[in-house]
Amino acid sequence: MTDIKSMTQEEITDALCAMGESAFRGKQVFSWLHRGATSFSEMNNLSKSLRERLDKEYYITAPLVVRKQVSKLDGTIKYLWELRDGNCIETVLMSYHHGNTVCISSQVGCRMGCKFCASTIAGKVRDLTPSEMLDQVLFTQLDSGKDISNIVLMGIGEPLDNRENVLRFLEIVNHSDGLNIGMRHISLSTCGIVPAIDTLAQENLQLTLSVSLHAPDSVTRSRIMPVNKSYDVEELFAACHRYFKKTGRRISFEYAMIDGVNDHDWQADLLAERIHGMPGHVNLIPLNDVVESEFKPSRRVAAFQKRLESHGLTATVRRSLGGDIDASCGQLRRKEMEARGGNAE
Ligand code: SAH
Repeated sequence: MTDIKSMTQEEITDALCAMGESAFRGKQVFSWLHRGATSFSEMNNLSKSLRERLDKEYYITAPLVVRKQVSKLDGTIKYLWELRDGNCIETVLMSYHHGNTVCISSQVGCRMGCKFCASTIAGKVRDLTPSEMLDQVLFTQLDSGKDISNIVLMGIGEPLDNRENVLRFLEIVNHSDGLNIGMRHISLSTCGIVPAIDTLAQENLQLTLSVSLHAPDSVTRSRIMPVNKSYDVEELFAACHRYFKKTGRRISFEYAMIDGVNDHDWQADLLAERIHGMPGHVNLIPLNDVVESEFKPSRRVAAFQKRLESHGLTATVRRSLGGDIDASCGQLRRKEMEARGGNAE
């Protein structure tokens, strides 16, 4: 059985043509799938025999809602989904005045090991398929009744550790007969896998690359992000400069403010120095307190922001949404795994 929602429209068309069908059937099937059809029997503009044949060869993914939490503070919705194999992942829907943004997961768990992050505590179970990423957007839209205008790949997982599936997902979600979400409305966040950043640059996509930096010096970064031991901060910045040169796209640097660790003025100065030469944007994130973590939120967010601005950098402080619903990545899934006896990891 083949996962049909992980296929591009062209691939579906080719497969149907190989079955002796007309090419326009590909577009019909693709449209059904991306409007949320969960069975071939619903596709009533196809012949019964074709529907039966498709049903024998392909399956259509559809996650189940295990839990849905709606923030009373700001309407943020967090979904915990169960996938075909019983694994769970999280998706967050945030409403801003400029539209609705969905934050999706790219893997079941994560193997990057960042010390402040709840998603990585139990490691990675597996990569998500393109269809499982797409379903998070599609079923969030269908369930909430809100049109999704923006996607951020900032949920559980490291997108560049699952690059091929992520690129395929991007192609499918961008398709005009599908959800038709423009690349400029998509952000991809990475902890800094340097060779994958270079490969991504070659794709020349119009998406926004976010780099989870969290420290501008190698000693601090290695302490909180093991990936820095493979690709250190100097190599990472060199890759960012190359990325900007190739794509012309401004990079967004994510910086979770940790008390006494990465919130010193000298670190703001070094950060500005490293970004110098490209139009970077720094997004300061008030650290989410993860129970298992030794790190505490910084009290110097505003001072750090001022210091960056004094160097001519744009620095914003991320508004925290969904504070009452465990909305930051990994927390809800961890609770569910514990409730189930922790056997899914
Ligand atoms: N693996 C990717 C995307 C997932 S994490 C990446 O590293 O970018 C999404 C963002 O949330 C990253 O910037 C990550 O560093 C940040 N993050 C993780 N745990 C956090 C916490 N406790 N408080 C604030 N930000 C956190």
